[in-house]
Amino acid sequence: MASLEKILHLVTQSEYDCIGDEGKVLENINFSKIDVLGQGTKHDICASSSTSRILNQAETLGNPTRSGICHSFAANGRCLSMFKTLFTNYCIHDCKYCQNSTDYKSGKSVYSYTPEELARITISLYKGNYIEGLFLSSGVSPDQDIVTEKMIETLKILKKRYNFGGYIHFKVLPGVSYEYIKQASEMADRLSVNIETPSKEHLSEISSTKNYANDILKRQKYIKNLELKKKLPAGQTTQLVVGACEESDFEIFKRVLKEYNEMMLKRVYYSAFNSVSGTSLENMVSQPTWREHRLYQMDWLYRVYNFSENEIKIAFDDNGFLKNKDPKLSIALNNFESPLDPNDAQYGELLRVPGIGPKSAYKIINYRKKNRIYKRDHLQRLGVRIKNAIPFLKISGGEYTRLERWIECQNQ
Ligand code: SF4
Repeated sequence: MASLEKILHLVTQSEYDCIGDEGKVLENINFSKIDVLGQGTKHDICASSSTSRILNQAETLGNPTRSGICHSFAANGRCLSMFKTLFTNYCIHDCKYCQNSTDYKSGKSVYSYTPEELARITISLYKGNYIEGLFLSSGVSPDQDIVTEKMIETLKILKKRYNFGGYIHFKVLPGVSYEYIKQASEMADRLSVNIETPSKEHLSEISSTKNYANDILKRQKYIKNLELKKKLPAGQTTQLVVGACEESDFEIFKRVLKEYNEMMLKRVYYSAFNSVSGTSLENMVSQPTWREHRLYQMDWLYRVYNFSENEIKIAFDDNGFLKNKDPKLSIALNNFESPLDPNDAQYGELLRVPGIGPKSAYKIINYRKKNRIYKRDHLQRLGVRIKNAIPFLKISGGEYTRLERWIECQNQ
């Protein structure tokens, strides 16, 4: 968060001219408030662990999961820097892993923005070219409608007074009224309700105050219906906290299928449970980041590679968990019969080879219209990760590694 504080000092000191009168609010800014309300978004993910998240665990500028200024992706795939914050960190719910919950045992400072204040901070950062958008979430207090009304007021000030054209990701709070969701959908690029767990039974393990069907799924349906009428540019997303309860990866997968097929979500985000001191789950072991990463890979296979549900099921063990191995490789090993000739294989067959993705599969198909593939080099130049792909391919004129030998090498 130090980075954001530095930026706001810069905005107030040296860049006052470029932001005009809006900057005056920053003269008396309460940095503790900005810090706490930014830290409160730690569990809200705006980019997957396939991005820089694993590499960038420090509290640094641009970290996609931390507070302050984070990175996210617009509907067209462009990377955006966003001001990520809660409106208030006071919450009437008791989610056991959350430092904003009523269950939180350590003393905590409770802060809220006013719509005016948050709009001015956002516009100052925006005009200073530090951010391209706002990621706005909140605790629920005094109730979901009252705080949402204030969050919407913030968007109205940004849009109407300041003509804000940046990206807006707006968190729909559990149980909020349809009318407020509708208003938010008219100003935001993306709406999301956090489902947190794959079922109502699992939600009841971590919260006694939230109702899965009414507070969450019903609100997702509202957004879906609004989206059908007037498209949200970046659609609806959701997020699961992985491992805060006893759910298996397979249960998560089953829920994710419903989220994509029935709720028509654009993306599901996964956040590995991380124990926070002072919460009811402070002594529970944090989940390894690789679990989250493998879930993203499973999600990618379904959503981008069009693997079927039955194909993906193979990647789960008998207890319903993914191993710490690329699920695409597990599926390929299970289905492997004999090496595939890249000169003849269909697009869908190529996609099932580890080391070949949609881009390289298209490139192979285009390349072979005029050329023949008979060397590893040809595939490498087309973007294939040859080390992973080689035992699954038959390349005439070139040697290929037999699968048994390749597996031996992987296990050494
Ligand atoms: S609803 Fe739950 S997860 Fe969200 S801020 Fe409140 S306590 Fe935290």
